[in-house]
Amino acid sequence: MAIRSERYRVRFDHRGQAEMCAQTAGANRFVWNLFLAYNDWSYRMARKARGYGRWTDFPEAQRPLLVDPGRTWQTMYKRFTMIRSGKYDREFQAFLASPEGAVYADQDLSWLRDLPSAPVRHVLKYLDSAYRRFHKAHAEAKAEGNFLPRRKSDGKPKYFPRRKGRQGRKPDGFTIPDNVRMDGDRLRLPRMGWVRLDRGRNFPYRGCAPKTVRLLKGGTDRHPKWYATVAYAVPTARLKPAAGDGELGVDRNVRQATDSEGEVYEQPDTANLDANIKRKQRKAAKARERSRQSGQPMSNRGRRICGQLRKLQRKKKRRRENAAHQHSRQLADTAHTVVIENLNTQGMTKSAKGTEENPGTNVKQKAGLNREILASGWGQLERNLDYKAGQVVKVDPAYTSQTCAVCGHISKENRKAQAKFQCMDCGHTANADHNAAINILARGLPMTGQARGAGASARREAIPLGTSTTREHDRRGPPTPVRSGPPGPDCVSVVNSPI
Ligand SMILES: [Zn+2]
Repeated sequence: MAIRSERYRVRFDHRGQAEMCAQTAGANRFVWNLFLAYNDWSYRMARKARGYGRWTDFPEAQRPLLVDPGRTWQTMYKRFTMIRSGKYDREFQAFLASPEGAVYADQDLSWLRDLPSAPVRHVLKYLDSAYRRFHKAHAEAKAEGNFLPRRKSDGKPKYFPRRKGRQGRKPDGFTIPDNVRMDGDRLRLPRMGWVRLDRGRNFPYRGCAPKTVRLLKGGTDRHPKWYATVAYAVPTARLKPAAGDGELGVDRNVRQATDSEGEVYEQPDTANLDANIKRKQRKAAKARERSRQSGQPMSNRGRRICGQLRKLQRKKKRRRENAAHQHSRQLADTAHTVVIENLNTQGMTKSAKGTEENPGTNVKQKAGLNREILASGWGQLERNLDYKAGQVVKVDPAYTSQTCAVCGHISKENRKAQAKFQCMDCGHTANADHNAAINILARGLPMTGQARGAGASARREAIPLGTSTTREHDRRGPPTPVRSGPPGPDCVSVVNSPI
C-alpha cells in the first residue's frame, strides 16, 4: 500500500458550488489569521503571567488570565469548535478586547457555521506544523548560539508562520481531510454536493480508495479554475514497478544532470520565459509603485499585468515539474538504485568545515550558496525519485567533482575547465560531470550493497519476477562500508579512502 495522488480539474454542476469553494478557501485563510493573532496574544499573556510570579500568588480578583499556551492542533480544534458555535469563553473575550484581537471584536463570526466544518478546521493542522517547523528552526539556531533573524515585513522571526493575504504566495484552497466520497469520476464536496473530476483519459489510480482531497484555486481572479488533488491508497500491485536491478549515480548541475552512464538530463530551456517574466515583473513593480504613490488601489491594467505574470510563473513551474517527472521516470526505469548527492544538509556543514582549513571564507560560502541553488532546482527530481525509484541513496557531495574516478587522486587542479576533467596523477580525461557521477555512484555503492544483501533485493528475489517491486528506502542507520561480494572496479577505493 502506498499513497499516490492524481490531480484533476473540477467541473462544477452549478455556480453555487464554485462560490462555496471560494468561501471555504477564504475561511481557511481567515481561521489561520485568527488563530495566528490569538496565539500571539496568548503567548504574550503567558509571558506576562510568568513574569509576575506564580499564578496562585495572586488574589482571585487580580489573577492574570491563565492562558493555555498550547498551540497543538488539538487545543486549536477545541477552540475553533467553540468559536464556530458562538460560545466565547473568558479567554477569547479577553483576546477580542486586546490589541491583537481588535480587528475581530465587532465581527459576527456566525458565517463560519454555513461552511463545512472539517475542511475549515483542517487549516489548524497546517498551522500546527508551521509552528513546529518554526520551533525546530528556533531550537537549531539556539543550539548554535544564534537567534533567528527578524523579518522586515512583520517583525516576526524568520520561519514564523505568516499572515495569509488574499494574494498570497500560495494559491487559495482547502482540504477534505477524511471521509472522502467518490463515485467513478464524481467527488462529493461536503455541503456543496457532487462535482465531476476531469483529467483527460489518464487515471492510473482510479478506483483505489481516496484518502484526502486538496482543492486549490488556479487560473485568474476573473476566471478561477479549481483543481482537486486526490490522494489514493494504492495497492502495491498497481504501482508501476521500478527497474529490478542496476545502479546509477547522478551528478546534478545548474542546467543539467549527468548520470554515471554519461546520459545527460537537461533542465527545460526557459530563457524566453524568464525574459518575459522579468519584463512583467518590472511592469508589475511600476504598477505597484504608482498605486502606492497615489494611495489608490492598483489599476485595472496593473492587476492584469500581475495576472499575466502569475500565468507565466505557473507555466514555468509546470515545465520544471514535467521535466522532473520525465527525468525521474527515466532514471527509475534504468536502474533500481539511484545515488545522488545530499545537497541540502551537507552544504552547511561543509562550508563550516571549509573555514577551518581555509581562511578565505567567502569562497566557501559561495560554494554553499551554489549548492543551495542547486538543491532548489533539483528538489522536485529528488522527491519524485523517492517514490519512483527502487532505492535512493544520498551521499556526501564533498570533492566528488575534484576526485579522479580511475585512480582516486583528489585535487583542485584536476578540474582545469568547468566541463573538462583531467587527472594530474594518472592523466585520465573525461567529461567533468560524468566523472563526478561515477564518483557519486562509487560513494553510494557500499550503502546499496548493504541494502541489497539484507533488505529490498532479498525480498524482491522471493517474489516471482515481473509481479511487483518492493520500494524500500534503507537510508536509516549509519552507512557501513561493507560490500558483499568481490570489490568492484577501481573506483571503490575512492570510497574507502579517507577524504
Ligand atoms: Zn587519476
